[in-house]
Amino acid sequence: MTAPGLPMTVPAEGLPGRVRIHEVGARDGLQNEKTAVPTEVKAEFVRRLADAGLTTIEATSFVHPRWVPQLADAEQLFPQVAGLPVDLPVLVPNERGLDRALALGARRVAVFASATESFAKANLNRTVDEALAMFEPVVSRAKAEQVHVRGYLSMCFGDPWEGPVPVPQVVRVCRALLDMGCDELSLGDTIGVATPGHVTSLLTALNGEGVPTEALGVHFHDTYGQALANTLAALRHGVTTVDASAGGLGGCPYAKSATGNLATEDLVWMLQGLGIDTGVDLGRLVATSVWMADQLGRPSPSRTVRALSHQEQ
Ligand code: MG
Repeated sequence: MTAPGLPMTVPAEGLPGRVRIHEVGARDGLQNEKTAVPTEVKAEFVRRLADAGLTTIEATSFVHPRWVPQLADAEQLFPQVAGLPVDLPVLVPNERGLDRALALGARRVAVFASATESFAKANLNRTVDEALAMFEPVVSRAKAEQVHVRGYLSMCFGDPWEGPVPVPQVVRVCRALLDMGCDELSLGDTIGVATPGHVTSLLTALNGEGVPTEALGVHFHDTYGQALANTLAALRHGVTTVDASAGGLGGCPYAKSATGNLATEDLVWMLQGLGIDTGVDLGRLVATSVWMADQLGRPSPSRTVRALSHQEQ
């Protein structure tokens, strides 16, 4: 029997039994919104995501408000959600951001590096190595406080200015982030150009340089409709941490299409169909994204949200 609103479960060989979803909607999603969402709405969004069973919810970014005005309320938001029984990582771009996050009791932080010079320049106004040098004291101070550190790596597959990104170039920056003390990495396909063979090739090359698969998460964008195919390739390789954004919120200002982050609902639909445990209640999650779409005044781009909510398009 299959419950209404859920796929039939048919397991497949060679896949993990459980996947941890790293939910990025409240940070990666909302930072790309044109208008600032009220703090109360963000807090309610995070609470609803936790209630839907997500256990890792990236809450906000302690970036300078001038860079990302949409997340300028990090100091107001974080205390409102800090008591939830979930992990609440926050982005910290530099030592000042780390200070602000630690002062509020954050126990998980993330830094945001680039695999390419062009994006490092555009996003951080630094070379790749200058950005790594900026993160080094952030990571070492966080580790001294026993704070968990995630290293995001953008443009792992393609770059809007440079085209395809050579695998060894990505491996070098991954190695540097782990060597400075990052606990886990998130491999970002920021413009959504990866295909499954490329994913497997990068993961294999990382293993060859001594990077264990357990330290790797994947962050796919659905720009070319490849996010779930790429996710499946990563799962077959043994990856068990997958980033996704509720309702498919967010994108990349440098990508050609408005289609951005892999939608958490689309991911959960596939994982549930494969019998892979996520702990997420798909119905509650869809209801959350329908509620959020209402707050933002436009429909969710998630196909699963559309299919299950009969949203008007
Ligand atoms: Mg993203």
